Amino acid sequence: MNEKAPLDRSGLDYDVIIIGAGISGMYQLHKLRGLGMKVLVLEAGTGVGGTWYWNRYPGARFDSESYSYAYSFDQELLDEWDWSEHFAAQPETLRYLNHVADKLDLRRDIRFSSRVAAAHFDDAGQAWTITLESGEAYRSRFMVTAIGPLSSPTLPRIPGIEEFKGESFHTGLWPKDPVSFEGKRVAVVGTGATGVQTIQEVAKTAKTLTVFQRRPNWCAPLHNAKITPEEQPALKARYPEIFQRCRETFACFLHTPDPRNALEVSDAERTAFWEMRYNEPGFGIWQGNFRDVMIDRTANRMLSDFVAGKIRERVTDPETAEKLIPTDHGFGTRRVPLETKYYEVYNQPNVRLVDAISTPIERITPDGLETSDETFGFDMIIYATGFDAITGSFDRIDIRGAEGQTLKERWAGGPKTFLGMMVEGFPNMFMLVGPHTALGNIPRSIEYNVEWVAGLLDHMHGRDLTCAAATAEAVTDWTETVRRAGADLLSNEVDSWMTGVNRNAGKTERVLARYSGSAVAFRERCDAVAADGYREIRLA
Ligand code: NAP
Repeated sequence: MNEKAPLDRSGLDYDVIIIGAGISGMYQLHKLRGLGMKVLVLEAGTGVGGTWYWNRYPGARFDSESYSYAYSFDQELLDEWDWSEHFAAQPETLRYLNHVADKLDLRRDIRFSSRVAAAHFDDAGQAWTITLESGEAYRSRFMVTAIGPLSSPTLPRIPGIEEFKGESFHTGLWPKDPVSFEGKRVAVVGTGATGVQTIQEVAKTAKTLTVFQRRPNWCAPLHNAKITPEEQPALKARYPEIFQRCRETFACFLHTPDPRNALEVSDAERTAFWEMRYNEPGFGIWQGNFRDVMIDRTANRMLSDFVAGKIRERVTDPETAEKLIPTDHGFGTRRVPLETKYYEVYNQPNVRLVDAISTPIERITPDGLETSDETFGFDMIIYATGFDAITGSFDRIDIRGAEGQTLKERWAGGPKTFLGMMVEGFPNMFMLVGPHTALGNIPRSIEYNVEWVAGLLDHMHGRDLTCAAATAEAVTDWTETVRRAGADLLSNEVDSWMTGVNRNAGKTERVLARYSGSAVAFRERCDAVAADGYREIRLA
């Protein structure tokens, strides 16, 4: 890149502005700097880490194996970092990301405490003007959104929420100072992956913990363990094999579907397989199951019955056990929370489960809350109520493309993208973990997308091109690919953040928000576009 003609920076502050200094923004900065580009990262928080910066709630940890989640692009980084657990907790992950920022000297090009309010494309200048909430503005040729699929926290729409006099937190905006539950009457609202991790932790010290559960989720054991000093070198020696495996699996996890169908093996074989998966660490029970359980209703029913049996075994009170067993969706059709003695929490005398469907929360009061049939007093309310996922973080920014059209308008009725990275009418904008991209074990997808974007920008620089625009045909084609990839999946028949439903954010209709095909196929398609000289993108 350095030997190429100098980049045309007339009227510009930067070649590229990246929004967000999480895992994707950090790597994109490093990669583009390596190509000789002048890059600025704008970050709302006061530090790096994105998801792992904001989500400091008690019990937050990986559900992917630590060593499959870390950056893979730098051997030295891999060699020098020791993960302490197979599934590391948030403080360790945040330390790791800060270590990466130090090592690669990233902070000098990151502006912290800088929340982006607007990003407007200027047709004449073929550049983006990016404006902060403070009013400061910067111009760059390209804009990369690295704003995360789960970064726009949503509070429930319950009257009185502002009136509560005790402590209250959303898990995704957890304070940096330590929070004690000791001797307190704590409420947790929400039982998704975040709620489950929070509940396990709070139950250890709270005087009382009352869990308000609307729809239960199917959870499975994490089986975490420390990585022993003896295991450490052996694990590190396996890095090439680990990352190769992630490149080959459906969703970039170490686990991938078994080639057999649940319905074609004997009852004994099926049960033995599920016992094995339930008793091994990580996502095997979800990502490494028989290949038909996510598409065949009978197979999914049998698996759900198997896991329901486990819940009944683990929860002493039969009535509570039944409340914890989902009846409106099958196992794995929503994101499976991984847990550590979650179900056993409900056997503790200080913990109570309230069904917030049959007895909904009607209002938050200064002293607690009221359901349809009871008044509760609390010292603390924790909202583990999730995010306006995937498109929510885009909606929060006033993004306007060519001819002033807004991204919200362009995506009315659901996102439409080319490879999940580009949008028709929004030239020179690239999305790293936007809609329609392969998510799964997310840093693996991030690394690929970052490198693909860097490849395209390098290609353009070499040819003195300054504008990249997705064509209508390419967008229609990819959006159709996304539709086809998800057509048979039971998960696309269920309301969840993965299907774009969030009533707290006023989103009640399911949309095709994510690409649910194989990551291998996704990369093959993107590779083909690059190998063909990016002909599907209008370059000028
Ligand atoms: P979530 O899965 O969307 O769960 C939100 C929870 O809040 C649901 O139980 C929901 O109930 C409940 N809720 C929302 N509004 C409510 C209201 N008004 N009254 C009562 N309950 C309400 O969000 P999340 O748990 O934060 O997880 C989001 C995603 O983040 C996960 O699926 C996962 O991908 C990721 N995550 C990853 C990890 C990890 O890797 N270790 C950890 C945590 C989260 P309904 O289901 O009835 O709407």
